[in-house]
Amino acid sequence: MLYSSALLVLLKSVKGFHLQSSEDTILFLLSFIASIIIGFMIINAGKGRHIEFSDAIIGFLMLNLGVETTTVFSAINSIINGIISERAVVYQSDKSKKYFNTAMFTVIAYVVGTIARQLLRYISFSQKYFMFSLAYSVIFIGLYLIFNALIVKIEYTLSTGKNFKFSSESIKLLIINFVVSSMLTATLYIINETSGILGSILVAGDLIILHYCFFIYRKLQVRNEAIKALIDITGNIVKYGDFRDKCKHLIITLKDLIPYNICAMYTFEIEDDDITYPIVYNGPKDIDIGELSIDLSNEGTTLKTVKEGKIYISRDIKRDRKINITGRLAEYCSAMIFVPIKSGDKIVGLMMLGGGQDLIEFSNNEVYDIFNILSNQMALAIENDSFYNNIKNKADRDYLTKLFNRRVLERELDILLKTKTPFSLVIYDIDDFKVTNDTYGHLAGDEVLKMISEVILKSIRKTDVPCRFGGEEIVIIFKDLSKEDAYIISERIRQNIETTPVHIGSESIYITVSGGVSSYPDDGDTKDKIIGAADNILYSECKRKGKNRVCAVSVRGSKNTLMSHA
Ligand code: GH3
Ligand code: MG
Ligand code: MG
Repeated sequence: MLYSSALLVLLKSVKGFHLQSSEDTILFLLSFIASIIIGFMIINAGKGRHIEFSDAIIGFLMLNLGVETTTVFSAINSIINGIISERAVVYQSDKSKKYFNTAMFTVIAYVVGTIARQLLRYISFSQKYFMFSLAYSVIFIGLYLIFNALIVKIEYTLSTGKNFKFSSESIKLLIINFVVSSMLTATLYIINETSGILGSILVAGDLIILHYCFFIYRKLQVRNEAIKALIDITGNIVKYGDFRDKCKHLIITLKDLIPYNICAMYTFEIEDDDITYPIVYNGPKDIDIGELSIDLSNEGTTLKTVKEGKIYISRDIKRDRKINITGRLAEYCSAMIFVPIKSGDKIVGLMMLGGGQDLIEFSNNEVYDIFNILSNQMALAIENDSFYNNIKNKADRDYLTKLFNRRVLERELDILLKTKTPFSLVIYDIDDFKVTNDTYGHLAGDEVLKMISEVILKSIRKTDVPCRFGGEEIVIIFKDLSKEDAYIISERIRQNIETTPVHIGSESIYITVSGGVSSYPDDGDTKDKIIGAADNILYSECKRKGKNRVCAVSVRGSKNTLMSHA
């Protein structure tokens, strides 16, 4: 519209025509089609909300061509615009509104135009006339914007159930639109009356510059809103539970900001060099974590780029040879964005966003640095988390052996007893440790303790809890394990210890341990009773009868059976 009317003014001033001959009509139609094409290109380049100057042009046409022509023109234009673009009408939100808007626009154009024509009869072509054109524009455009804003308000209120209020930004935009459109209508009219090619070129130039200003303004506004939303989102994550909860909350709220279909977050462990799975993800219910794995050992270009700390955008994952998407992911996204999470020079994680055209449009906007902010925030969260874990580890673990300390042992036993979870435990005591200490020194004794702990840590499951109970006593809790099974595992660990050498200077020494097994609820329902039972059997059956063995008393009916290999 904007360009067609600028063109029209230009043509008019060059040829001095009015839309009466068929040649003029063809020229006018050509400029109209050109405007639609240009408008379409601009709408697609801008991506943001589109501001129309059609109100200004309609006012201008009305004064020049009369009510009927303008009404038909505006109706056709609105419908065509409505068809070629979702965003063609100011504050467009859906199709029903689009056509309602068109009808309303046409009615306003007709009513205001008819009144204007009646009034014009009584006013001569003088300076007053220009004043009138300005007043006309103000009324016409004012009414148009008020109606339009009302429709938006009613529609939002109905669809959300909440009273919709325009933000101060939208009101500012409406006022700017109103002032600019009124001025434009009047200016176009005055230029048209006074004619002159220079004037017309000026108007055309003006229009383009104005349009460009709005274009930039919109972009800044979109960016501004996005950054504000991002600050809210990242500020809020502090409130949410542990690290995983925080990440989960983050990616869910991120959906309001970034139009993704699937979002997954990965953290990289230092030694990780193979398949990694996301710590959190959000997306269609039927996509499972297995389909979101990333092969870190695969040195594809994408991963290399990400590992260098660069954001990678794949606009078409099917054609992009640099990435290899398997499984059903491709059904849910055609485009993907990979955002590395950097802490200093190290890549500590990765955020993957998958989506369609919307996601690509989003990434085209001036919102690139949103990803950088996001990445920095996540890096901070990851750092905090590992810092916290380090401190927690230090408080829970014994410095020499890296096993849990006695406090953790007590805590774990309390939880298991409280929740009535069956478990077994073994107490190991190093055989003749005093002799080792006396012969090779205390430092050598410490090496022995380290070796034993390493053997234990390698031999148990993640759910087992190995603790340094006393100086040279180690307890392992086996959750949900019967005494028989605990005995078998404890015996295997004993054998591993027996066969693992400790290097003291040039010498290799071999150490043995003895262990007593007890279990809950078989051996009692308090910590003291259960540990006491294991300790008893350790001394009465293992130490006294030859050491280097694991013993357990199995109760079957009224018969006690001693389990021991020796
Ligand atoms: P037994 O086979 O009967 O267990 O004989 P033992 O010599 O091992 O006797 P006991 O279990 O009473 O030994 C405890 C010794 O363990 C005393 C102490 O010197 C040593 N010990 C305890 N904690 C540490 C430690 O952290 N480092 C070193 N090097 N030795 C320790
Ligand atoms: Mg001891
Ligand atoms: Mg001992």
